[in-house]
Amino acid sequence: MLEQIENLGKILNESYSQKSLESLLTDFFGKNFQINDFHIKFFDAAEDIASDFQFEYPIYKHKKRIASLCFDTKSKKLDEFLDLSSPFISLKIQNIILGDKMQKNIDFHDTMKHIAKIIETQYELNFIIPLIGEMIDKFFTDYLIYIFLYENDSDKLKLAWPALCKDHKILNLIENLEYAKMSNDEKIYAIPLISDGKNVGVLTAKSTSDIIIPKDRDYLEQIASQIATTINRANVYAEILKHATLDALTGFYNRHQLEVRIKQEVSNAKRQHAPLCGIMTDIDYFKHVNDTYGHAVGDLVLKTISKAIRGQLREYDIAGRYGGEEFSLLLPFTKIDEAKMVAERLRKAVENKVIDISKINPDCGVKQIKITMSLGIYEIKESDNEEDLIRKADKALYEAKNTGRNKVVVYNE
Ligand code: GH3
Ligand code: MG
Ligand code: MG
Repeated sequence: MLEQIENLGKILNESYSQKSLESLLTDFFGKNFQINDFHIKFFDAAEDIASDFQFEYPIYKHKKRIASLCFDTKSKKLDEFLDLSSPFISLKIQNIILGDKMQKNIDFHDTMKHIAKIIETQYELNFIIPLIGEMIDKFFTDYLIYIFLYENDSDKLKLAWPALCKDHKILNLIENLEYAKMSNDEKIYAIPLISDGKNVGVLTAKSTSDIIIPKDRDYLEQIASQIATTINRANVYAEILKHATLDALTGFYNRHQLEVRIKQEVSNAKRQHAPLCGIMTDIDYFKHVNDTYGHAVGDLVLKTISKAIRGQLREYDIAGRYGGEEFSLLLPFTKIDEAKMVAERLRKAVENKVIDISKINPDCGVKQIKITMSLGIYEIKESDNEEDLIRKADKALYEAKNTGRNKVVVYNE
């Protein structure tokens, strides 16, 4: 008996998971007690195996049953052995359960941290939802995860992640869902996504094996609350963007508002028979700036240049961000000769600007950089339509690029 207990001690030392403990003990009881079929039933798992085992030996922690050792046959010798050795087995099982729980908690907090990080930096739902979906999927390996969202303010749910859900049990369960709900077989759990009192969608988990245990329900509920917050923020942001007219980085008009202003200015100029000039600008070798010093330095350059440009314009001149590092300027009541002078002033102002990048990119050996910009200009004619102003200025800019950069070119029919 003593030797057997010693052997058991070795086995317990070698086990690190539920599976390895079970397989090592199966071997051990087979050799020492002629047991053919052995199984450990863990009581915190949602396991419900049909008990066709002859003999079930309970394992306690304090007075709480945490597991059972199940044997296909019973013997007096085995019973005596278990009475002696069960405290050691109990201790091992406690450790394994605790280890599993801790690992799961760590994984959960990692998942939540990742989601929080996404919330901070991203607002585009089409981008966010798949990221979150994948993350939850990785965490709940035994569950299939679905995220449904209400279609713009209607009460019609639409699957947002993954691409397909044909499970009618799920589709029935989530209909008109107001509170978290479990399917009758306890294998599907659906939680409404509610943020600020608004119901924006449903998170659903479907187990592919056992029932969904309370602890996992708790995890799912916490995640649902995070997702709801994210969606709410994205919706608020989209609403703000709809009304925005300015580009966040440069403070110039954004592309949409720029187009509105171009239409207005062209039609004003035509009606009043007043001159109007358009300037298109594009930073030279800007990709090189990004590639060499990083995107953040690129952004700083855009900020600095837009400020320098604004400083050279009259108050009623219009500046817009046409795209990436391209700006469009509208100079009302301005003839081409004057516009040429303005453009030349802008070119010089940019050329002379020393940009301190040491704060943005302190690890870089270079502290200051200088850049140049090419410009194309055009004065609108009676016969032109509203697209011609920018189109022809852009053609001139193209020529400036092709003939050396850091220069001003006037459009030439
Ligand atoms: P070129 O002299 O021919 O204009 O050369 P280029 O390198 O400037 O060429 P291009 O105009 O094609 O490159 C534009 C680059 O601008 C590509 C992109 O990485 C960068 N860019 C566009 N928008 C932004 C932005 O908002 N921030 C930063 N940092 N870079 C941007
Ligand atoms: Mg460009
Ligand atoms: Mg460029």
